[in-house]
Amino acid sequence: MRFAPSPTGYLHIGSARTALYNWLMAKKEKGLFLLRIEDTDRSRYVPEAMTDIMENLRWLGLDWDEGPEAGGPAGPYYQSERVEIYRRHAEDLVVQGKAYYCFCSPERLEELRRSGYGYDGHCRELSAERCREYFEEGKEAVIRFKMPREGKITVRDYLRGEILFDLQTLDDFVLLKSDGFPTYHLAVVVDDHLMAITHVLRGDEWIASTPRHILLYKAFGWEPPVFIHLPVLLAPDGKGKLSKRHGSTSLREYREQGYLPEAVNNFLLLLGWHPPDDREVVTMEEAAAVFSPERINTAPVAFSLEKLNWLNGVYIRRLAPEDLAARVLPFLQKDGLLPDPCPPERFAYLVRIIPLVQERLRLLSEIGEQTAYFFQEEIPAPSPELLVGKKSSASETRDLLAAALKVLEGVADFSAANVEETLRGLAAELGKKPGLLFMPLRVAITGRTATPGLFETMEAIGKPRVLRRIRAALSGLA
Ligand code: GLU
Repeated sequence: MRFAPSPTGYLHIGSARTALYNWLMAKKEKGLFLLRIEDTDRSRYVPEAMTDIMENLRWLGLDWDEGPEAGGPAGPYYQSERVEIYRRHAEDLVVQGKAYYCFCSPERLEELRRSGYGYDGHCRELSAERCREYFEEGKEAVIRFKMPREGKITVRDYLRGEILFDLQTLDDFVLLKSDGFPTYHLAVVVDDHLMAITHVLRGDEWIASTPRHILLYKAFGWEPPVFIHLPVLLAPDGKGKLSKRHGSTSLREYREQGYLPEAVNNFLLLLGWHPPDDREVVTMEEAAAVFSPERINTAPVAFSLEKLNWLNGVYIRRLAPEDLAARVLPFLQKDGLLPDPCPPERFAYLVRIIPLVQERLRLLSEIGEQTAYFFQEEIPAPSPELLVGKKSSASETRDLLAAALKVLEGVADFSAANVEETLRGLAAELGKKPGLLFMPLRVAITGRTATPGLFETMEAIGKPRVLRRIRAALSGLA
């Protein structure tokens, strides 16, 4: 199996699905998964794309058995370093009369393009002698494939069955450009053969190219691989292809927003495939054991951010506190809530508060928003409106907070259980509903009305800071 991205931009979420399916099938069949960089289109080459693609494949855990950095027997794995190989193969076809040199000028080709027809075969019958003369005159040439002029060609797609293409609709396409670089068609066929690819699993936008590929395999006398084309990815509304207009399309954006690779993989897996038992939560280990291309759908599939968000929550809740702490750490550092590097005692503190927020967290990037008050020495003073609930008054709130401050000062062991017992005792003594006491305390200590359990939160923040914050809130109400 292979994943063969062109480094023309950041790794696209749809391409990541292609890579994942290839990787899973290699795992399931105990095959090899290789990464090949299709970088022969110099005009579309984006240097950062290379590092981005490899970094994000690794982030997803889609390691390659052969390819850049990994090496392997069929390298090099950058097509730009294989130009000689393609040239040799194209020239072989010329010698065999299956391809030919074309000297047509760019102007002539432009005119043909505008007329709406493909290449008209103008140079198809040039003699070897004439070609030599042209070369001697310093003329530049491309090499074109000699398409059979009539009949049909059958493409067998593993999922769709046989697809017939009329040969009249296919022109003599270019194999080698005048700068010596191959076209995609030549390079992909030569490499898939030389790299011993048995199954080509790729996006369905390549179906239209497949008849050319099959004819090339025939011309070289090679056995074509099995072709499996994935369904189109649609925008969330199901109308039209997924594109930038619908939000993030690059994997790096999802990573920066705080999605877990486990959730992204699970999500991508279900975009066109489903397990035999129709489960929604499928880990990569589970998928690698049961993945089969028969279960890939051909119907276009819509991208649903809701599902991704839901899965992210599922995988966040599955993580051990230490693991989740390690994953949210960079986000807290970015928000300036923890130092970088993070000293062990601060990290241990983070691990301690993780169970308090793990249940609610949807995206890792929300962590700062949800936990800032645990890390700050002082919190911004909550407004009196927030402190004084709708069912209370400023003076009542002040009295309650003052009474709470007093009893809490006397709590020596500031555990959640002790704090709870003390505060419930106080409410009973004052003949107040506990909620009337707990809400202003919560706001005073955290600055917000929705938090994890109040007593656990107080224990984690610790007595000195809790008392300071209650005093600060009291002075705000004075
Ligand atoms: N380089 C092509 C791409 O960027 C690969 C297509 C294929 O898998 O044949 O998608």
